Amino acid sequence: MKATEIDGRMFLNGERVWARSGATFDAIDPATAQVFARVALGDKADVDSAVASAHAAMGGWAGLPPVRRVRLLNRLAGLLRERSREFAELESLDVGKPVRQAEDDVAAAAGYFEYFAGVADKVFGSSIPLGKGFVDFTLREPLGVSAQIVPWNYPLRLASRGIAPALASGNAVVAKPAAEAGLSIVRLAELAAEAGLPPGVFNVVTGGRETGAALASHPGINHITFTGSVPTGIAIMKAAADNVVPVTLELGGKSPNIVFADADLERAAASAATTLMQNSAQTCTAPTRLLLEESAHDRFVDLLATRIGTIRMGRGLDNPDMGPVVSERQMQRVLGYIASGARDGATAVTGGRRAHAAELARGYFIEPTLLDRVAPGSVLEQEEIFGPVLTVTTFASVEEAIAVANGTPYGLVTGVWTRDLSKAFTVATAVKSGQIRVNSYSVEGSIGLPFGGYRRSGFGREQGVQALTNYTQIKNVMINFG
Ligand code: NAD
Repeated sequence: MKATEIDGRMFLNGERVWARSGATFDAIDPATAQVFARVALGDKADVDSAVASAHAAMGGWAGLPPVRRVRLLNRLAGLLRERSREFAELESLDVGKPVRQAEDDVAAAAGYFEYFAGVADKVFGSSIPLGKGFVDFTLREPLGVSAQIVPWNYPLRLASRGIAPALASGNAVVAKPAAEAGLSIVRLAELAAEAGLPPGVFNVVTGGRETGAALASHPGINHITFTGSVPTGIAIMKAAADNVVPVTLELGGKSPNIVFADADLERAAASAATTLMQNSAQTCTAPTRLLLEESAHDRFVDLLATRIGTIRMGRGLDNPDMGPVVSERQMQRVLGYIASGARDGATAVTGGRRAHAAELARGYFIEPTLLDRVAPGSVLEQEEIFGPVLTVTTFASVEEAIAVANGTPYGLVTGVWTRDLSKAFTVATAVKSGQIRVNSYSVEGSIGLPFGGYRRSGFGREQGVQALTNYTQIKNVMINFG
């Protein structure tokens, strides 16, 4: 993909447009630190116009026979799969991730539209018996205009996770990608129009924090799905409170990966190495806190270090194993965390530095880093690093593993590796997290599994049919016909 081909306009009411003010910001390739596009910097006026378009389109969209939404969303999924390479290259350039991983993201995005196309005509209510002469039933109605505020790490995948169920259940959407990366979301809206979605049903306003704040506080929106950091989630919830607007918050994580000595250590180590390579561990669900049973520590660390030694870094478009982190700011932040680990006595088994090879020197590359003997309770064990860093702590009993796993404010996902299913059940029922993954961190079909946080990782559930509860409200109709 040539940088000159990239359209930096946003998408309002079925058209590509620049910001009314004419303002723009730079899109930067994290592998080279070069500007590759100028992007429209939307402000309140653009948000006003997007929300007005969504309102105007909403009635027609919600009023369509649901089977028509089924067809349109399936058509959009089909177009996404046809254009997979184009979307993957754009995402790779924007975020820095290897194209192969970006292709998985496109497939996942298409999967969200297929899954929710499949339920668009099954948004059922129920009937409630009231005795002779009465009939009572519930309707699940759309909320109206759903604001979707998206982070930079998986722009296409995460936008689709919220937008697909919102559209399937008859809402209109105004999406706001992150300034660091999110051009694929504008392209997605354009593709939705090509698939036949009416103008105004799916709008995208590009910009940064102020643009997001203008959308979150807009009195015309009826719902917010926010995926991002805890402090921003708190600000969004406060903005939503002023307009009495419901929010779904998908926030950060500090997911533990508990490895018992009886586990298949080879498989667990392979999965841990994948965590680093997958989007340079800039993944909310990444199980970056390795909790190893003491007796398995040495063997596991050896196995993992060997695998990490083979990780090839490079520009995402060249399809390496691992790309750079998204921005200079993110790189400095991650390097700061690594330095704090050294001060707290952790040992770097691998990595621990900015990559110094000549071909990587201009980009934001950090060596895949394994930090051993990190103290539970230390900054490294408590705060989300969001870069290619795994930390290791050890435990001596199931109870200790559970206590350490629960010892952060987060609760998104927990990984468990053991051949003893009673141990796995004990952990699964005791840890405070929205998902538990035993003996595999990924599975085909995960779109159907409800996903969301406990504690400061947020609330509301995306994915699965449960997601429809975020995007619909129940109306009860009681009729006395006697
Ligand atoms: P962020 O919170 O800085 O930004 C997320 C989005 O919010 C961006 O679009 C940003 O422009 C916008 N924003 C920033 N300030 C705003 C404000 N005051 N009002 C409205 N919008 C505002 O997060 P990030 O750095 O882009 O993403 C990384 C974070 O996202 C990590 O904490 C990660 O764990 C989390 N995340 C969570 C999930 C999940 O599903 N739970 C998935 C991916 C990422």
